[in-house]
Amino acid sequence: MNLTVIGTGYVGLVSGTCFSEMGNTVTCIDVDLKKIEDLKRGIIPIYEPGLEAMVKRNFQNKTLRFSNNLSENLEKCDIAFIAVGTPMGDDGSADLQFVLQVAKEIGTHMHHSLIVVDKSTVPVGTADKVRDTIQKELDKRNVDIAFDIVSNPEFLKEGDAINDFMKPDRVVIGSDNEAAQDKMRALYSPFFRSSMDRLIAMDVRSAEMTKYVANAMLATKISFMNEIANICELVGADVNKVRIGIGSDSRIGYSFIYPGSGYGGSCFPKDVKALKKTAEEHGYKAKLITSVEDVNNEQKLVIANKVIKRFGEDLKDKTFAIWGLAFKPETDDMREAPSIYIIKELTRRGAKIQAYDPKAMNEAQHFYLKDVPNISYFNSKYETLPHADAMILLTEWKEFRSPDFEELKAQLKQPVVFDGRNQYNHERMINSGFEYFQIGKK
Ligand code: NAD
Repeated sequence: MNLTVIGTGYVGLVSGTCFSEMGNTVTCIDVDLKKIEDLKRGIIPIYEPGLEAMVKRNFQNKTLRFSNNLSENLEKCDIAFIAVGTPMGDDGSADLQFVLQVAKEIGTHMHHSLIVVDKSTVPVGTADKVRDTIQKELDKRNVDIAFDIVSNPEFLKEGDAINDFMKPDRVVIGSDNEAAQDKMRALYSPFFRSSMDRLIAMDVRSAEMTKYVANAMLATKISFMNEIANICELVGADVNKVRIGIGSDSRIGYSFIYPGSGYGGSCFPKDVKALKKTAEEHGYKAKLITSVEDVNNEQKLVIANKVIKRFGEDLKDKTFAIWGLAFKPETDDMREAPSIYIIKELTRRGAKIQAYDPKAMNEAQHFYLKDVPNISYFNSKYETLPHADAMILLTEWKEFRSPDFEELKAQLKQPVVFDGRNQYNHERMINSGFEYFQIGKK
């Protein structure tokens, strides 16, 4: 099939590349000219394991193209995917300006019947808005072209996006039209080798809702466990043991119940907020979802508060080594990362920061921590340690899992470790002479 993917960010680039890997001819479109020029030269704008090689291979095979010209590419297209950002608006709702701008452009340039797919995460009712926007442009041009709107929310996770897309747990297709459903089924069938059970067809509104509910459920699990961790600490229980104790119940399971410094990233924070806002717009106060967000906002500062408790309110003469800036491992994404909040709190009190992250340093230096004073960046985790009063681990990158603890102890001014991701064995750390602080354990 001939596909056009509009918006070449995490979702657009990964989806477009994976569709081309399966034999489709794909053009990824973006308004960001530099991004498109870089991609043509083999420069990949994001870090995602396995993506670079796949992009280069398909680009060389000419099954994957990059362009900023939507009108030209719509001419040969069977399916157009909208994969632009839906950032958080000022009132917490999803800002649909980019989605509707693309819909308008599609309506302006469409010359034949096609399927328009909402892949961006959009609130219930957006497909109707996209349809109306396209139709309005067609009416202006006085042309009569049939088109279908499908909701196909994306469930990939950054850090494992290629794997998620190539071997999906499920693909949700929301459509009220059988022919469009069939075409989407045909597009996705190569991704399901043995069974098509994981291709879930439903109406458009339910598909739009499914994406928000999935993210809200995962965020709920995280906030629940973080709240439990805070209670464990007060009552003298060890959340690491409690986690195993409850996860072994097959009704509960182990995934997403790991205590830590709170969720971040481009999706959970804004999607939880947007779902709350959607409920509000329909006259319902979403109490549980509101609490999920409140718990998370407080959790982001738990480690900073432990540092303050240990070193005092005034941190002017203190230096901290930070291991990990990205909101999770295997990505350079720092959107809403706990590291931003923690570093800002510590530097506000005068602390100096010596930071290292395997992939996110560029993002930190040039965007997220650009205006924060007193941060220096280093090329390896050990280089952050000299002159530091403590090490603070904030992202659970594999390379932080079993460091040389002797070196850690020798390089720090004093052997103090704050672990915002509970990566190390508490008893072993204490026995090795560390002052060791975790989440959910006294
Ligand atoms: P992103 O910010 O990385 O990329 C969006 C891209 O769209 C940018 O490159 C931007 O330049 C481009 N764009 C904006 N307006 C455009 C226009 N008019 N025409 C062409 N291109 C335009 O965003 P993302 O992380 O890929 O997210 C896209 C959507 O997918 C969001 O709704 C998000 O919630 C959802 N989503 C994201 C993830 C994730 O892990 N990042 C996972 C699932 C779903």
